[in-house]
Parts: sequence; structure tokens; C-alpha cells
Amino acid sequence: MLHILQHPLGTHVLTHLRDKTTKPVLFRTLSYQISLLLALEATRDLATEEKAIETPMEAMPGRVLACPLVIVPILRAGLGMVQPFQDNFPDVSVGYVGLERDHATAIARSYYCKLPPLDGKRVLVLDPMLATGGSAVQAIDVVKSAGAKEVVFICIVAAPEGVNTLEQAHPDVPIYTAAVDRTLNAKKYILPGLGDFGDRLYGT
Ligand code: URA
Repeated sequence: MLHILQHPLGTHVLTHLRDKTTKPVLFRTLSYQISLLLALEATRDLATEEKAIETPMEAMPGRVLACPLVIVPILRAGLGMVQPFQDNFPDVSVGYVGLERDHATAIARSYYCKLPPLDGKRVLVLDPMLATGGSAVQAIDVVKSAGAKEVVFICIVAAPEGVNTLEQAHPDVPIYTAAVDRTLNAKKYILPGLGDFGDRLYGT
């Protein structure tokens, strides 16, 4: 269920995201670019349906997307992955799950949840850093309790520990990531990782 992005542009973009000299304005652009590449991978198998159209030359049976998407960014870092979905997919609704990591214990606490109807939709949960997996598991628990049947998790960098935890808790949920890094440090940050994604995104 683990899909690792295999694209030279993805490798290039991720290197610049990781670089500590990259400023927030470029960091946001790179986040957009890599999230778009991940979005395309995670939606490769979306259903399409026939639509009769006329080109300027003649009538033909075309095909269009049949399945609306719901994206659920985990606040706040997940917001950095939202825009490419909204710009490129015609029918997307956005839900939010707010989880805050206690910096001392690294345990996530839920402080906000607002979700559209999820039944019959593909629900893509977005969080750029899959570290311990605690937030991902909690967010997926939330969307499943709200009726989601088809859930996909998308991140930019994953730690093996997070992948393992998520796979154990939600074996039905495919994980899309641009990289699986070496490990977590004592404060549960990913190594080599890219630091605190939210801080780098918002310059905090
Ligand atoms: N969240 C981050 O922003 N970075 C990490 O390395 C782990 C969690």
C-alpha cells in the first residue's frame, strides 16, 4: 500500500524543499509542485465516465472524471498541499481536521474538525510529514467515523516508523509519499527530513 513517487522532477523539488537555505516563498511554490505530482499519482486510478461531445470537426464519445474528491488537510501544515488539488480537479470539496502536536510528548490533540459529506467519495487526507503516524491515524479515524469508505493518505516525507504505525492501524489506506527517510530523532522529527514543515511554510 506504500507508493513512493518516482519522478526526476519530484526528486529535484524535494531536494530544494529539504535545503535549509530555501526561503518560505520558494518553499510554498515547491510544496505546490510536489503536491501536484503526488496528487496525480494518487488519482491515477480514478473512474471516468463517457460524455458525448462535439469537436469542431465531428461528434465523439469523450470521457470525464466520474468521482468527486474530498481532500482533508490536517491543520496547519496540510494546508500547504491543498491548492494543486483545487486548481486541477474540477470537483473537490475540502474538509479540515485540526491536530496539534505537543512538542514535549509528540502526541497529537484534536482541536478542530469540519467535514463535508464523505459517503461515496474518495477522501484524500493530506499531511506533509508522516513522522510517528499518530496524527495520520487519528485523522483517518475521524474521516472513517464520518462515513469515508475509500481513504488515501498523501504526504511529502515519511519516516519508516510512521509508515509502520499507519499500515498497522489502517491497512486498507494506501500511502503516497515522495520519500521514506531514515528515522525519527528523539523529538520525533524526521531525519534527514526537512525540519518543521509548518514553520518553513509560514516563516514562523
Ligand atoms: N512534522 C514536521 O514538520 N517535521 C518533522 O520532521 C516531523 C513532523
